[in-house]
Amino acid sequence: MTENNSEKTETQYEYSFEYIQKKLEGKKDSFGMLMKEIVRTGVCTECGTCAAVCPVLEWDHIAGQPKLIGKCTGCGICYNQCPRTITDPHILMGEFRTGYVANTNIPEVIGGQDGGTVTSILCYLFDEHLIDAAVVTMKDLSKPWHPVAQIITSKEDAIKSSGSIYSHSQTVEALMDAIRQDFRSIAFVGTPCNIDAVKKMFDSPTGMLKYFMRAHVLSIGLFCMDSFAPEALYPFFEKDGIDLSKVQKMDINKGKFHLYYDPQAEPVKSYTIKQLDKFKSSSCNFCTDLTAENADISVGSVGSGANKNTVFARTGIGTEIMEDAAEKGYLEIEPFNAINLNAVLFLAKLKKVAQYNIQKRKVFIVRDLAEKEEARIETKPEAEQISVKPPLGTRKFLSASKTLNEVDQILSLSLTNTIGYVLEDLKIRVVTVEELFEKRPWITTIKELFPFETIEIGYPLEIKEGEPIVTNILVEASTETFGKIFSRTFKLAPKE
Ligand SMILES: Cc1cc2nc3c(=O)[nH]c(=O)nc-3n(C[C@H](O)[C@H](O)[C@H](O)COP(=O)(O)OP(=O)(O)OC[C@H]3O[C@@H](n4cnc5c(N)ncnc54)[C@H](O)[C@@H]3O)c2cc1C
Ligand code: SF4
Ligand code: SF4
Ligand code: SF4
Repeated sequence: MTENNSEKTETQYEYSFEYIQKKLEGKKDSFGMLMKEIVRTGVCTECGTCAAVCPVLEWDHIAGQPKLIGKCTGCGICYNQCPRTITDPHILMGEFRTGYVANTNIPEVIGGQDGGTVTSILCYLFDEHLIDAAVVTMKDLSKPWHPVAQIITSKEDAIKSSGSIYSHSQTVEALMDAIRQDFRSIAFVGTPCNIDAVKKMFDSPTGMLKYFMRAHVLSIGLFCMDSFAPEALYPFFEKDGIDLSKVQKMDINKGKFHLYYDPQAEPVKSYTIKQLDKFKSSSCNFCTDLTAENADISVGSVGSGANKNTVFARTGIGTEIMEDAAEKGYLEIEPFNAINLNAVLFLAKLKKVAQYNIQKRKVFIVRDLAEKEEARIETKPEAEQISVKPPLGTRKFLSASKTLNEVDQILSLSLTNTIGYVLEDLKIRVVTVEELFEKRPWITTIKELFPFETIEIGYPLEIKEGEPIVTNILVEASTETFGKIFSRTFKLAPKE
């Protein structure tokens, strides 16, 4: 290569670098984010691309990661070249035909959840006889703020069904009921995971709706960052002085969860999402779809301001419905712009990368046999520990297994949280039962046991030398909120 050529190459590289720097201006991607999201989480493939593109980065062969050797300008070029970061808009929020900022024009719907767009679309579809039923989610009349999926057949019921309930709703069950009842044209409103279930049932070679019970389903997806376990979240609200029966609206906005007794007034209470993180449904930690990428029409609030909705019409029919509903006066629509888009992209990215930060915690209760047990384990009268009856009909709170270490005379018990939300102040009681009498009771308290987390407890046995092990070990668990949630007797017998 001649000197001239090499100068030219260098200039082209610099030109390219500056050009991309300009394109990325104003974005929040940086080397710090690359380290946080990709390197420190163990997602980095050690391809070295980041170091190869930036003049102030080099590859640290000892640490096996990029290293800064100069002043970082925070331009974000490294972040945007990395094969493991998610940066392209169509990957962050799916393909769509048209984006809108929308709000209702129907007087009874104004002042609802956000812009009332979902309810207005349903009203339009019923009035125009485009659907004969819709699947929506309403509040359970017997349990405040618990969701129930419902089949509705009128505009009046669509208006009654407006509002968000931030918990999983069994919408697909209602959809199947609607199909069994011979409804042929159905609007289906659901979170992205609900929409995915329906898409799979239609598209998968073994999908239930592909070959069997054909129906036309228009899917209206709600944006969704997370949902919460009502059995855990609502007792927390109640403990904090909230009267759930008085709550008229719940709303997530700019990282805060608000509760309103009067939707037109200030919230009665607000929490940061971080404060409520432990009540999040565990499935949502593994979810990467913010904007219901597989829906015909996706509707959310982020990016569009108060009393408005951000809407993506993704399919031909979705676009036609939005345009016609606006033309017939059900909706007000404006074109979508870069400001709306950037807000959605920012949140979509947070959701896509959140899965990188999941690290399963395994708690071991380490016990030194030489030490006295009293420091960790205390005995209390049982009556003091158990206050409330466990709710009926819920799934199993805990699963347990045991391993016997005959040499060290330890029974290792593994207890796993199977309920799917955090169990707080979990008291575990282990006791030896001999001829109906309880001996050597131990109680230990676990402050927080996260969903699907396992703790291991070592319980010392009294095995007399030369005698066979024949012992019953009773394991019980309780929490202040649910009372006794687990009870199982393990029979220890000598190996045959
Ligand atoms: C669990 C959850 C999390 C959400 N998170 C976000 C978020 O992070 N960012 C964001 O921009 N938007 C989020 N949304 C969407 C937002 O709350 C609104 O639903 C959306 O903006 C539509 O507003 P709207 O005024 O058109 O709603 P409305 O016209 O009031 O219609 C709402 C529709 O949602 C249905 N619905 C209510 N609860 C559920 C449920 N649990 N499952 C299925 N359908 C339900 C109702 O039946 C009704 O048809 C979330 C919604 C839910 C349910
Ligand atoms: S200067 Fe730009 S490319 Fe280099 S490390 Fe900083 S953010 Fe990354
Ligand atoms: S570009 Fe990404 S994956 Fe490749 S070495 Fe850098 S951080 Fe790791
Ligand atoms: S975060 Fe994902 S899994 Fe959780 S409710 Fe929303 S769409 Fe479903």
